[in-house]
Amino acid sequence: VNVSELAAEAREYAICHGILRYREGQIAHLPITLRPCSLPQAFYEQGRQATLLFNYLYHEAARRDFLEEHLGAARDADPFVANLFEAWPRDAHEKPTLYLTRNDYMPSQDGARQVEANLMAASLAAMSERVDGLVRYLYQGESLNLPVNRSGTKLTRCMAETFHRYKKPGSRILFVIPPGESNAFDQRVLQTRLQVDHDIPVRRVSLQELGEGGELRAGDLYYGGAPVTLVYFRAGYTPDHYPTESCWRARRLIEESSAISVPSVATQLVNTKKIQQVLNQRDVLLQFLDPQAADVLQNAQVRLASLDQKISWRGQEASAREIALAHPEEWVLKPFREGGGNNFFGAELVQQLRRLDAAEAQAYVLMEMIRQTPFRGVRLVQEQVLDSSCVTEMGHYTAHLREPGRSAPLIDELLGYLLRSKDAHSSEAFVLGDHSYLDAVTLA
Ligand code: ADP
Ligand code: MG
Repeated sequence: VNVSELAAEAREYAICHGILRYREGQIAHLPITLRPCSLPQAFYEQGRQATLLFNYLYHEAARRDFLEEHLGAARDADPFVANLFEAWPRDAHEKPTLYLTRNDYMPSQDGARQVEANLMAASLAAMSERVDGLVRYLYQGESLNLPVNRSGTKLTRCMAETFHRYKKPGSRILFVIPPGESNAFDQRVLQTRLQVDHDIPVRRVSLQELGEGGELRAGDLYYGGAPVTLVYFRAGYTPDHYPTESCWRARRLIEESSAISVPSVATQLVNTKKIQQVLNQRDVLLQFLDPQAADVLQNAQVRLASLDQKISWRGQEASAREIALAHPEEWVLKPFREGGGNNFFGAELVQQLRRLDAAEAQAYVLMEMIRQTPFRGVRLVQEQVLDSSCVTEMGHYTAHLREPGRSAPLIDELLGYLLRSKDAHSSEAFVLGDHSYLDAVTLA
């Protein structure tokens, strides 16, 4: 099959199966692969193993004393962190915690290395499942070793299971969405599955609407006259999503109520880049995990450091800032922000590192660059075929449900994967901005 035929097939498949998003007010297909990427089976398995263990780690570390200790400086330097702490009442409702996460890894020469965990608003599970279908369709009859990917279906099943366990008469699920969401269809798939397949009422709200219309009745959250069992955030990870005080009221209301919040404020705080850096240290891992688990997670990470931390790196002893200034191609500078497009690489990293004073430096971490061998990536972006040398990043979706007083999780599952590939020269991996594309994996 030639590539233009593949492209035509892929385009219609994407429309037919809703691999879509909004782009400048129009409906457009998402950037999608025309040729799945081959990766070692060991990379895939290592990521899956580490992902399950990371959930235990985050659940243990999401404690007030630990978070206050390590985020104290960030709280002073960054009003967003301060606002999150304020939305977390000391007498918070004791309730179950549901994690719906995606943990992202790159294939370095030495194996899977974590880029970050997404414990909040992890997106593209539904779309990723459909890309699995796309590749099977494009390559029918060829024996590709494609792992089954049912991430969207399993995600909704775990939400439904949790809902049915804790529901009250007439209660429902709220999806918290940002105004003007371009990735709306990925959410619509989950929403409609919950409604149609699982018979669960779902309502979409903005933080603003929930802050204005939400209320507490005997400890339960009510919105639009109905009780809420579960709040699923697809917004709220950036300060832009909180234009008014009402938005913060919404966060506090949820925390004070019996409603299960995916994620809770504690979960969001444990998911900061600062805590990722703190959990990079072996003595900290050992506070929460046995030595074998700590080994697995340490092995799945590259070096992270705060800017003025003294580290030893490739035989040098200096502050991380000095080391990164001397080797800017080997490091990434990350502010405590989520959602893509915030990191500094190369020359910009140098400029920014020189500019930041000691107080400002508290709101950043440095992370070692994860290096990988590029491969040929052929994909369809804005209806055009692109073909260039690419690198990739694999996320593993999970569901993990904990109940107070029970040490074992009630749900502890891998759901499927997301593979995002991008041109080897591009630094960020934002699919909705066309910087990367939805890919699928064949295991070698
Ligand atoms: P966020 O998604 O919250 O903006 P990430 O930590 O995922 O932040 O970084 C965004 C992107 O930058 C990643 O998807 C990846 O493409 C690139 N990136 C981040 N950290 C590294 C790293 N250590 N090595 C190589 N690339 C990285
Ligand atoms: Mg990311």
